[in-house]
Amino acid sequence: MAESRTSSPAAILSQASLVGSVVPNVRLYSDVDPVVILSSATIKQNLLNSSTAWLIQFYSSWCGHCIQYSPTWKALAGDVKDWEQAIRVGVLDCAQENNFDTCKEFGVHFYPTFRYFKARSPTFDVGQTNRGPDRELQTVRQLMVNFLQNHTKQDWPPSCPPLEPSSAEKIFPLIGQKSNQYTAIIVEKDDSYVGREVILDLMMYQGLTVKRALSSDKSVVEKLGISSFPSAYLLHPNGTHAIFHVQKRLRFFFSSFLKLLPGVYRTQSTSGATQQPFLKGPQGPGSSEAWKDFEKSKVYMADLESGLHYLLRVELATHKTLEGEELNTLKDLVSIVAKLFPGRQSVVKLLETLLEWLVSLPLEKIPYDAILDLVNNKMRISGMFLSDQLQWVGCQGSRVGLRGYPCSLWTLFHVLTVQAARRQRDALANTGLENNPKAVLQTMRRYIVNFFGCQECGKHFEEMAAESLPEVNDLDQAVLWLWRKHNQVNGRLAGTMSEDPHFPKTQWPSPDLCPTCHEEQDGIHVWNEDKVLVFLKQHYGTANISPKYLRSSSHLEALATKGVPKPNQEMLGAPDNSKFIQGNTVAPENARLHANPAKQSDIEGAGKADTWAHRDIRPGVSFLGLGFSSLDMSLCVVLYAFSCVFLMFMCFFFRVRSKTWKVRHNRPYV
Ligand SMILES: Cc1cc2nc3c(=O)[nH]c(=O)nc-3n(C[C@H](O)[C@H](O)[C@H](O)COP(=O)(O)OP(=O)(O)OC[C@H]3O[C@@H](n4cnc5c(N)ncnc54)[C@H](O)[C@@H]3O)c2cc1C
Repeated sequence: MAESRTSSPAAILSQASLVGSVVPNVRLYSDVDPVVILSSATIKQNLLNSSTAWLIQFYSSWCGHCIQYSPTWKALAGDVKDWEQAIRVGVLDCAQENNFDTCKEFGVHFYPTFRYFKARSPTFDVGQTNRGPDRELQTVRQLMVNFLQNHTKQDWPPSCPPLEPSSAEKIFPLIGQKSNQYTAIIVEKDDSYVGREVILDLMMYQGLTVKRALSSDKSVVEKLGISSFPSAYLLHPNGTHAIFHVQKRLRFFFSSFLKLLPGVYRTQSTSGATQQPFLKGPQGPGSSEAWKDFEKSKVYMADLESGLHYLLRVELATHKTLEGEELNTLKDLVSIVAKLFPGRQSVVKLLETLLEWLVSLPLEKIPYDAILDLVNNKMRISGMFLSDQLQWVGCQGSRVGLRGYPCSLWTLFHVLTVQAARRQRDALANTGLENNPKAVLQTMRRYIVNFFGCQECGKHFEEMAAESLPEVNDLDQAVLWLWRKHNQVNGRLAGTMSEDPHFPKTQWPSPDLCPTCHEEQDGIHVWNEDKVLVFLKQHYGTANISPKYLRSSSHLEALATKGVPKPNQEMLGAPDNSKFIQGNTVAPENARLHANPAKQSDIEGAGKADTWAHRDIRPGVSFLGLGFSSLDMSLCVVLYAFSCVFLMFMCFFFRVRSKTWKVRHNRPYV
């Protein structure tokens, strides 16, 4: 049997490294890393009267050990990012000339030197050196917990929750009480760190308090009915309470479960400000859009189509003419989407037509307006349509301005990598890209650089791609590469302004979506990548794409072409979708689509296991990418028949005439 592929701690650490260990001239830490990069100008002001404790590595960028250790440090900083209102992880480069004096002042003689600094220190302090020989991630993380617990009441970091175990007297009165938040109690052995780590993991989340109790406290253990450790008990706001079961009794599983409780949301790390989350109401001020219920275990065709609409009609529109690399990128993108998009006939036909048009044009420069005319189907080719309504479902945000397009773009490219991997070599047949397992990713990379509106995002993505995209050698690796990079971005953005508090950026898929994807080695969370690949192929596979909330394209097309005002967002939303979809699960949706193929013909692609087989059932016929309706075809046949009869008649007529002429002018020799 093939060996299970996990991202071992070592692999995680090496992934976390950017280029430090490979190219010594490049700085070991950069803005994209979760560490705070300090300098002589900032270190003292950060440490003096700080509201958090600090763990700082004084390093030298030329020191070989520092270079080798940098991946561990980055991984540690990422692992404890959610603790940053209690303790922060920083670095200071003593090899930088303007830091020489500072390193001297702090008495740093060897590299790397690790120093702990207590919170609320009113005077200059050189910190406490950690001289332990074991610098493994888990050991350092546990030392950070110990260091926090060494604070007194006076210098305790104000945002850090209590880490001491709670006694029976503190816990019992809470049981059965109504409250405005959840309380989770981790019951664990005396030497376990799980409880304290989960408390710190959740410290930036509102709507929940985490406490710990010890297995040695028999009255607590008995009252809560706990028999194995660590275990977790949950007191709900409505007063009910029970043990909560996670697939594995590990820190990551407990934390993930609690972060995803309804009504539990994250505060922002930078300002500490809380964004009010929103649950099933209008999408923020000025929006009349109704909340659409959705399942997070599904992908929604409405998001994919809205993303395509935005890409083709809004993002591309910022480029007046397309030429050179931009035009080539667009051609490759349209080739890939036309071949791999598992969507409705009307959309696929539009993409195919656009592709044929782009490829057949002998021009080196194309005005965007010409592309727009085709996307808007100005030629009125029947059965070809892409809605110009934004309709976010799985990508809807809790308020306007959050999620939406970037979410749909990630989703689109995950779907495309999975489609390519599932269909292997025939996926991109006749495009010139069929032998390139990186084709989807390279096209995505070029699209992001040339067109994606967020330039900073493009810069970061380009850095990631330049670093590791060349290592992708097959279509499965391409699927995993995009998943890894997306998680890297999630890690960097967690707690920042662009995070929707109702949809916190976590490492995905969470244990509730894929329990077997998660494992732990030496106290560090690791992914079982074989299981992740299987999960990604299922999650982004055609059968898991829901047509819910999609409006029939023929209906929209008819409205658009007849000049009838377009339906507003509410029309496109939940109330009317029962006409098309009555269930929430894959099976009934599919069953219904099969049940009424005539009416459902334009949502047939979504939710079907084999869209490609289904493509044969088309309302019209495609010839050189142009669509003809049945009426067009009937007219052609009648015209053809008429021409045949006419030609035959003409033949007959001329033949008879020539015979008559021959007879009349024939003067036989006598
Ligand atoms: C290429 C790219 C680079 C970006 N860079 C930046 C940046 O530098 N700074 C910035 O502020 N914003 C950046 N963004 C936007 C940002 O990543 C989010 O898309 C945006 O904040 C919306 O977040 P979201 O909560 O909808 O989830 P998204 O991160 O957009 O994810 C969408 C959906 O994909 C699924 N998902 C999540 N993680 C994974 C994964 N690892 N693998 C597979 N599926 C997953 C989930 O179902 C999730 O709901 C970038 C977007 C793109 C497309």
